[in-house]
Amino acid sequence: MQTETLRIILGDQLNRDSPIFEGIAEGDCFWMAEVLGESQHVPSHKARSAYFLSAMRHFAQQLRSEPFRLEYYHLNEHSWPSLKAALAATLQSLAPARIVVVQPGDLRVHGELEAAARDADIPLEILSDSHFLSSPEHFACWAKNRKSLRMEYFYREMRRDYGILMDGDGPAGGSWNFDSENRGSFGREGPGMLASPVSFPADAITQSAIDDVNGYLADNPGQTTHFDWPVTSEEARRALQDFIDNRLIAFGDYQDAMWAAEPWLYHSRLSAALNLKLLNPREVIAAVEQAWRNGTIAINAAEGFIRQVLGWREFVRGLYFTYFDRFSQGNALNANEPLPGFYWTRETHMQCLAQSITQTLELGYAHHIQRLMVTGLFAQLLGVKPQAIHAWYLGIYVDAVEWVEMPNTLGMSQYADGGLMASKPYIASGKYIQRMSNYCDQCRYKPDKRTGDDACPFTVLYWDFLMRHEKTFSKHPRMALQCRNLARIKPQEKSDIRQRAAVLRETVDSL
Ligand code: FAD
Ligand code: SF4
Repeated sequence: MQTETLRIILGDQLNRDSPIFEGIAEGDCFWMAEVLGESQHVPSHKARSAYFLSAMRHFAQQLRSEPFRLEYYHLNEHSWPSLKAALAATLQSLAPARIVVVQPGDLRVHGELEAAARDADIPLEILSDSHFLSSPEHFACWAKNRKSLRMEYFYREMRRDYGILMDGDGPAGGSWNFDSENRGSFGREGPGMLASPVSFPADAITQSAIDDVNGYLADNPGQTTHFDWPVTSEEARRALQDFIDNRLIAFGDYQDAMWAAEPWLYHSRLSAALNLKLLNPREVIAAVEQAWRNGTIAINAAEGFIRQVLGWREFVRGLYFTYFDRFSQGNALNANEPLPGFYWTRETHMQCLAQSITQTLELGYAHHIQRLMVTGLFAQLLGVKPQAIHAWYLGIYVDAVEWVEMPNTLGMSQYADGGLMASKPYIASGKYIQRMSNYCDQCRYKPDKRTGDDACPFTVLYWDFLMRHEKTFSKHPRMALQCRNLARIKPQEKSDIRQRAAVLRETVDSL
């Protein structure tokens, strides 16, 4: 049969309400491809690859139960080096009159699809992505002519525009922001008994994905042993309900807290299901708002969670499409150290890093504060080249897709964009980690020491960072306190800190 329109469905576009399903004509064909190169351009965690493959295979099974034509390239039949190569082969064999795809969430992928279409001289139409509430155009318009881009103001507008958590014209609960209530730590007694999140044991399709990953991507990082993620929309909805019933109640209070051997705490584990579009953010937001209106949870939990999905998630996507070059090329602090090897092996005595990286390699998951204030913070204080830590984050988490990973890493975590996303660098000494976790209790280093062999490397590097960048930040209003504290340190101690920092850099993989 002659192919009229080739309808591309990418691995993170698994929503049946997608515009790709609009206006289907006889002769149209859907196209999905498992591409080896997509797990290799940066080394992708085995659980991340298995998540994509399993979710794609489940979605393909759903499509096959409907009267659609589907061309599906399976990993074990082809080993495509790139999406471009896989698409080029299809364009040659099916010779469609046109191609359509929903806007890819990765500009590299977008470029590959365009190049394949151009080479084959077939028109490619890009549809806007209705999964998100905001569009890149809407964001660019909001950002235009603003002196600074602060998520808070974008988020307030989104709440007003969509009537989310509003009481009339004002914010529900009388405040836009309950962040000050959302910085709790567990104290010495720890989080106590935590309900385990609902688990989704591998069915035959997931097992086939896991087996293929372990066969074809054996050298990639990470494990699949504990894989229990929701891989269909139905499972993702169960995961959402489980979160609302069992963890949302304390999400706000302990959003920033960490605890050894407790990877999930009160977090939702929904990011990958959202990013693959198994879940619609509107559905997630509505369910959380309803839980507050029913009186099941407090306003700080509801607002804290909705801020992440309606605020941060939509905001970072806008930043990615509007300021891609500034993020991808950015190195505002001229950081050029390589990424320490222990990011791949977990072998370090620094307990906060050992714990966060261990769970990352085992599960493909770490929560936001572990990413921002442990692995991200250490890379920034050490002075790791931003693009090197970006490549790690882009492969190592099950939820990693470039539109969300890049601004979070290069903007929020590394300040490589020079302050476009975050008004100041997110830096802290080991004392912050001590306050927010129990990691330091089991560590050979002392978080309050900044000189000597047992000084916490975070603390040494924090003061060294302030000294290295004193000129840049001395007049920054939000860094004034940190710079004043630096000024109080005596010259001899400053020199000792510098020397210790130099030793740490040289011996980082044995710390
Ligand atoms: P929860 O803590 O339960 O939060 C709820 C939801 O809010 C998340 O599922 C997510 O969809 C959204 N969300 C929360 N924070 C953010 C944020 N800063 N940006 C965008 N959405 C947010 N998130 C990704 O989805 N993919 C990534 O590749 C990614 N890379 C990151 C890299 C760095 C350096 C940092 C600091 C953060 C990154 N994040 C990324 C954001 C955040 O850490 C994860 O979304 C979150 O940890 C996922 O776990 P969860 O679903 O349990 O989230
Ligand atoms: Fe991390 Fe320093 Fe605490 Fe050790 S002492 S766990 S290195 S913050």
